[in-house]
Amino acid sequence: MTVVYSVLFMAILGIGAGVFLAFASAKFAVKSDPRITLIEAALPGVNCGACGFPGCSAFAKAIAEAKAPLDGCIPGKRSGVPEKLKVIMDTDAERLTALYEESGEDPEKALEKLLSSSGTEVKAAPPKPKRPTQEEIDSYKGKLKENSRAAVVFAILPNINCGICGSPGCAAFAIKVANKEENADKCVPGKRQNVPEKVAKIMALSQSEIQKIIEDTSGESAEIKKKFES
Ligand code: SF4
Ligand code: SF4
Repeated sequence: MTVVYSVLFMAILGIGAGVFLAFASAKFAVKSDPRITLIEAALPGVNCGACGFPGCSAFAKAIAEAKAPLDGCIPGKRSGVPEKLKVIMDTDAERLTALYEESGEDPEKALEKLLSSSGTEVKAAPPKPKRPTQEEIDSYKGKLKENSRAAVVFAILPNINCGICGSPGCAAFAIKVANKEENADKCVPGKRQNVPEKVAKIMALSQSEIQKIIEDTSGESAEIKKKFES
């Protein structure tokens, strides 16, 4: 009998603890900041690092804390991101929370409602760039062995394979640039690293100068990159 009472007591204690924990988690749940969530929804989401932050989430947090400029997202400049961020930052937190909740906590819907109610003309966001597969990246990297100028161009690119340039990765883009089929300006994340200027220097080198760079560095990208850092 004592055993039955003990089991019963333990079961009631367990149910009670479960109910208390469920209540406490609902009551004290940390709600995500709708301002940061909406800012993140306005960003391209390609995590290229061109803003100087380690990804879009970190940049969104910095914007919400007024620690980053509204036009700091380089790929976002062409899709009206600075204007969208201004609308979000000019709206008070209560209104943002209400919009977010009304939209079923869907940040994209909340952002759409906010922008349409603000009367601000904002450019439509371009489709997200297609990230290349690892297979594509590796296949183009392999082709660099046949094109020494492209190997040198590749070394000075960000090598993040974000796809913003429209090529399936940095090696594919380097090959097009070296073959004069593509403009270095299209590497948006590379602008902060002076990629267009470095590419201009590389393209002005003679084939024997390119060959010498490859020989001096044993074709190592990190070593080639150092030669163009100043
Ligand atoms: S530059 Fe824009 S897209 Fe790139 S990581 Fe920063 S916020 Fe994201
Ligand atoms: S070359 Fe293309 S894939 Fe590579 S970092 Fe630049 S934009 Fe992104």
